Amino acid sequence: MTQSKTTQKMPPMLPHIRALETYEGVDPMEVLAERAGVPPEKIIRLNGNENPYGPSPKVAKALGSFQNFNHYPDPGQRNLRRVLSGYLNVDPERIVAGNGSDELIDLLLRTYVGVGDNVIIPTPTFGMYSFSAGICGGEAIAVERDDNFEIDLESMKSAITAKSKIIFLASPNNPTGNIIAESQTRALLDTGLLVVMDEAYFEFCGETAIPLLAEYKNLVVLRTFSKWAGLAGLRIGVGAMDPDLAATMMAMKPPYNVNLAAEVALTTSLEDTPGLLERVKQIVAERDRMMQRLQQIPNLKPWPSRANFILCQVPEGRGKEIFESLCSRGIFLRYWGSGRLKNFIRTSIGLPHETDAVVEAFAELCA
Ligand SMILES: *Cc1c(COP(=O)(O)O)cnc(C)c1O
Repeated sequence: MTQSKTTQKMPPMLPHIRALETYEGVDPMEVLAERAGVPPEKIIRLNGNENPYGPSPKVAKALGSFQNFNHYPDPGQRNLRRVLSGYLNVDPERIVAGNGSDELIDLLLRTYVGVGDNVIIPTPTFGMYSFSAGICGGEAIAVERDDNFEIDLESMKSAITAKSKIIFLASPNNPTGNIIAESQTRALLDTGLLVVMDEAYFEFCGETAIPLLAEYKNLVVLRTFSKWAGLAGLRIGVGAMDPDLAATMMAMKPPYNVNLAAEVALTTSLEDTPGLLERVKQIVAERDRMMQRLQQIPNLKPWPSRANFILCQVPEGRGKEIFESLCSRGIFLRYWGSGRLKNFIRTSIGLPHETDAVVEAFAELCA
C-alpha cells in the first residue's frame, strides 16, 4: 500500500453515477466452491443460464489454429455482418455485433436516453435494462406484469410519458420463461417508442419478431451467442434494426468492440449450427423432464418455461432460507431476495445428473 501524499480532494462524480447500484453478475466457480466448502468439480452452477455442454467442439480447434490475433478486429464488422446476415435472415446493413448483447443494450440507451429521460420495463425481467438506463442518467419505469407474468398492455401504455424513449421486452422473458404474444408486440410498436425485443433465448423456443422489422422502423431485435451457442465467456451478441439506426450504432460503438477470438468462435459456431441445435434440443428435453419432476414436489410451483431455465416458487417466506441451504450443498441457483420475487428461485437447465440433484434438494427443502 502506498501512502497518499496528495492534498487534492476527489473531484465530484456525476450524481447519477454515484447513485448506481452494481449489477450482480454470477461469481466464478472457484469463489462458489470456496463459499460452500465443496471441491470445484462438485459444484452445481445453474445461476447464469449458461450452456452446460459448452461451445461447439470445433471452436477450440479454430481458436487454437487461428494465426492473426496480433491484428485488430475489423471496425466495420464486414465478415461478422455477412455471416450474421445469414443466421438472422436480414440484410447486413441492418446488423450490429456487440460485446455481448449487453453492450448493444448500453449503446441503444446511449443513443436515445439522456439525463431525465425514462425507459418502460415490464417487470420482473432482466436487470441490465434498468442498470444500463441508470448509467445514462435515465429512469427505469417498472410496469408490473400480471399474476401470470403476462404483460399488462394498458398499464404499459399509461406509464408512457413525454420523457419515455424505449420499451424493453424480453421474449422468452428472463426470469419468468414466458413469451410475448405478437399482438402485444404490435400494440407496443404502435406507441412509436423504440421497442427493443431481447430474444436471448430464441433458439430454445423458435418464436421471433424478426419478420416485423420489415413493417416497423422502431423495432430492434437482440440475439446472443451466450446461451444457445455456449459462448458466454467470449462475449458476443447481435442486434437487427433499421439500417439508419445500425449505421449510427456502427459509428458510435468502440471501434474494436468485438474481439477476434469472439469472431472466430462465432463463425465456427455458425458452421456447426446443426450440432449446436442438437444440444439445444437436448436442453429443451431436459427442461421438460425437470419440469415434470418439479411439478411432483408438494409446496413447489415451477412456472412453465420456453427457455433454458425454470422459475420455481417456494413456500411463502422461505426463499432466502431455501436458497442458502442450496448454496451450502454446493448448488448455486439465482435468487433476488426482495420484492415480488422473494419467494422465487430460478434454476438453469443443466446436465441430467444436475437436474436430479436440484430436484432432490428442492423436494427435501420444501417438505
Ligand atoms: C443472458 C441474457 C442476456 C445476456 O446476453 P450477453 O450476450 O451475454 O450479454 C441478454 N438478455 C437476456 C434477457 C438474458 O437473459
